[in-house]
Amino acid sequence: MKIITLGTGAGNPSLIRNCSNTYLEFGGRGYLIDAGGPVTANFVRNNVDINCIHAVFITHMHEDHFGGLPGFLKNRMVDGPYCPFMRPDWQGFWPEVWLPQQDAIDAFDNLMKVQFRGYQRQRIIYRLVTEGPFYDDGFLKVTAIPNKHWCWRGEWLPSYCYLMEAEGKKVLFTGDLAADLHDFPTEAAKDADAVFCEYTHFNPFERIEYFKNIKPGKLIFNHVAGVNEAKHPEFAALLDYPSFVAKDGDIFEV
Ligand SMILES: [Zn+2]
Ligand SMILES: [Zn+2]
Repeated sequence: MKIITLGTGAGNPSLIRNCSNTYLEFGGRGYLIDAGGPVTANFVRNNVDINCIHAVFITHMHEDHFGGLPGFLKNRMVDGPYCPFMRPDWQGFWPEVWLPQQDAIDAFDNLMKVQFRGYQRQRIIYRLVTEGPFYDDGFLKVTAIPNKHWCWRGEWLPSYCYLMEAEGKKVLFTGDLAADLHDFPTEAAKDADAVFCEYTHFNPFERIEYFKNIKPGKLIFNHVAGVNEAKHPEFAALLDYPSFVAKDGDIFEV
């Protein structure tokens, strides 16, 4: 499968990184993990056809992970240059949009109603993510592993790592994690063909035990903080498997 790190930044604006969104493709089928802005522009700039997206999976409701979603919904809903009906090869499906909270589903539904009078509700299939295996379209299986990235006054708010399985391969996306990394999904990461791990909320040298306990095919850091990127060559030398810091538009074959 092919994975393009469309947006590799965290929440703070950067000259070179857009917010988090990653495109996964195999057999002509496309999937999107997180939809930070400006995701539709990222599709165009990386020659990804928005009509190939079968499902969108949002890890948690922080703006750097969903801020581009209204644009994606608009382009799939409103007749225009991306309208599937204008494409002779349209495959006849609407994408499923998987969100981690029901109030987020309600919010996007209302936002689309506010913005478009001719709201074509049937063109967007909202789904609620639940812990464990939650998605299987016969090609891709996705399992949600809760993490502790987002707690507020002692209350856990939904935030997930996603384990993707397709074509005999396992790819793990951590989403954002807790600052001390105690929620790092070690079991899922151990033998994954690729792990896409955030690189903002922790000092890798202080948390190296988590990375010594796994041996994935490759480790790719996204959601990158500049301070960690600068130290990465030194950190990578401590691991006995390959690791990379992704840039916007990088392509990884798994
Ligand atoms: Zn984030
Ligand atoms: Zn976050």
